[in-house]
Amino acid sequence: MDDLILERYSRQLLVPGFDLETQERLAASRVLVVGCGGLGSPAAMYLAAMGVGRLTLVDHDVIELSNLPRQIGFTEVDVGRLKSEVLAERLRAMNTQIIIAHEPVSFDRSVAEALLSETDLVIDATDNHETRLLIDATTFAAKIPWVMASAMQMAGQVAAFSAQREEGCYHCLAPEPDVSVGGACARLGILGPVVGAVAMEEVLRGIAILTQGSPPRWGLIDILDFRFGERRSLHLTKRADCSNCGFTPSS
Ligand SMILES: [Zn+2]
Repeated sequence: MDDLILERYSRQLLVPGFDLETQERLAASRVLVVGCGGLGSPAAMYLAAMGVGRLTLVDHDVIELSNLPRQIGFTEVDVGRLKSEVLAERLRAMNTQIIIAHEPVSFDRSVAEALLSETDLVIDATDNHETRLLIDATTFAAKIPWVMASAMQMAGQVAAFSAQREEGCYHCLAPEPDVSVGGACARLGILGPVVGAVAMEEVLRGIAILTQGSPPRWGLIDILDFRFGERRSLHLTKRADCSNCGFTPSS
């Protein structure tokens, strides 16, 4: 590592448990961020700033004025432009030492395999249950861990799922596609700092997975309520009959 890299990351290298080897693991990591909105915008910015070596940003949407109070990678002049493209430009300006790719597409079955082929971790920054189910199924098939997060109004939740899903999976938690949940922020509202705080919880789990191999707990669903300042944790229960990770008889 050269002197400029040591200077750039000097403060995080002072944190107990975060050393040069940890930094090198981050630099060698490839992360797919699905969604560049309220979760994806701050999450990708912090992952890039910390030195994750390769980030791929996926989002088909364009920036709207109503995005600006929480999607802090964007400015007024960006309205009407592609979120993935603008965020990629911001990240490249923040950190020229890493590789940033962007794909202005929806994460669906037609692109999932190619996007996951050179990925160590997926950060879910989508706004709908159906895409989370697809991330869960495709990352399980590809043996890749992922971190789920969602937020609306004054609350959010976050959970990390391992490559092997021994703790269960997102399908065990919420098996059915619920089309009514999509776009909840547009219908029910969201405060920018709430989705930002949830994104940081997600980033911290992601960094732990990339540098230590696991978060504090796999399959622990943390529910954060910022209106009352409360945090609850639920343990996921693996379902034997789960359509995604459940036991399938061989005959
Ligand atoms: Zn399952």
